[in-house]
Amino acid sequence: MAVSPFTAGIRCRCPNCGEGRVFAGFLRFKERCEACGADFRIADAGDGPAFFVMFAALIFIVPSAMFFEFALRPPGWVHILIWPPITLAFSMFFLRPVKALLFALQWRHKAGEARLQEEPQE
Ligand SMILES: [Zn+2]
Repeated sequence: MAVSPFTAGIRCRCPNCGEGRVFAGFLRFKERCEACGADFRIADAGDGPAFFVMFAALIFIVPSAMFFEFALRPPGWVHILIWPPITLAFSMFFLRPVKALLFALQWRHKAGEARLQEEPQE
């Protein structure tokens, strides 16, 4: 039974078996799945996770800050105190599942570096 890349990604689990954890550290992938032995060394999400998380932060946090400003008119230092920690927490919370999700999608669709042609078969 195929594992949904969305389920595996959000749970930060192996895109092959859905059981083993994909992360060895906060954002560093393990070399292999502890459950099925799948090779995670091909994982290359690049800047994708950071881009999507920053974009989501822009969509949710900037309007919240603007609403806060126009509704309550707080002094500027209140914004400096409130929004950086919220932005940091938002990013830290979503970066792992988004990175695992992009890896699971890469796994599912067998995405890799482009090649001009296949190696000749002997
Ligand atoms: Zn696995």
